[in-house]
Amino acid sequence: MRPNVQRPHWSYSSLNQFLKCPPQYYFERVLGLSRRITTDAQVLGSAIHAALAEHHKGLMDAKPISAPRIQQAFLASWSDQTDGRDVVYDKYSPDDAKDLGIALIETYLGEPQPENIVAVEAPMLTPIADSRGEVLEKPLLAVADLIIRTSDNTPKVVEIKTAGRSFSESEVASSLQATCYASALYELTGEEPLVEYAVLVKTKTPKVQRIETIRTLADFGRLGDVAGVVERAVEAEIFYPVESPLNCSSCPFHRECRSWTGPRSEELEEGEIPVAGEVALAR
Ligand code: SF4
Repeated sequence: MRPNVQRPHWSYSSLNQFLKCPPQYYFERVLGLSRRITTDAQVLGSAIHAALAEHHKGLMDAKPISAPRIQQAFLASWSDQTDGRDVVYDKYSPDDAKDLGIALIETYLGEPQPENIVAVEAPMLTPIADSRGEVLEKPLLAVADLIIRTSDNTPKVVEIKTAGRSFSESEVASSLQATCYASALYELTGEEPLVEYAVLVKTKTPKVQRIETIRTLADFGRLGDVAGVVERAVEAEIFYPVESPLNCSSCPFHRECRSWTGPRSEELEEGEIPVAGEVALAR
């Protein structure tokens, strides 16, 4: 669930959505259209997040909750997300997808559990500065699944992921999401944090992969540079489609995109370069 922060801000998901496909950003975050469809992978990931958030809050408050109650939280989130909505079941039937989610949670609970939990899904709203030290207009909102202190008191963000395969070292090393979490926690604590991905891998026998990464001040400056460019592109209304099977096959705005025509010719000032159709008609 997205926290209700009224102030305009950037987040990993808004930056990533623009970088992935600017019109998707435009439809959802400029026009405010709602997603008409969702995928089983998105529902599964969100339901697992909701269930494990309950579990982690219980651990943080020294009031652990039982496995059946964690399962109930998973199924309640599943219903909340699917009732009355179109879900694209890509790989599994609805029942198989739910069984898989329960098996992934059981696998996670069978692992050593986090200790010294200091926050669960706590929103962090912090400034973003670029590599020249200039602070951007909008702050960064990061909501980490889990923040803990390691045995040597280092702050660590733990991000729970659900994926069809294990993550690679290079994926984690270049992840913008990890940079967002590390930047936000650094701004709040003044300490360089660790970021760990706990990946619940949807293999035949589910497993949990744990993979760590770190970020430096240079990475935080680069995050500011990227966010600054995205900010300027949005202000200039530069929303060009990035069409690819990976992007478009699960895009909730596919229909809107098919009717999208970009800047219309009548919006061009006299003397500007005409669009291709006008050149053809003029002959
Ligand atoms: S259909 Fe493809 S190009 Fe169009 S908005 Fe969606 S992801 Fe982007």
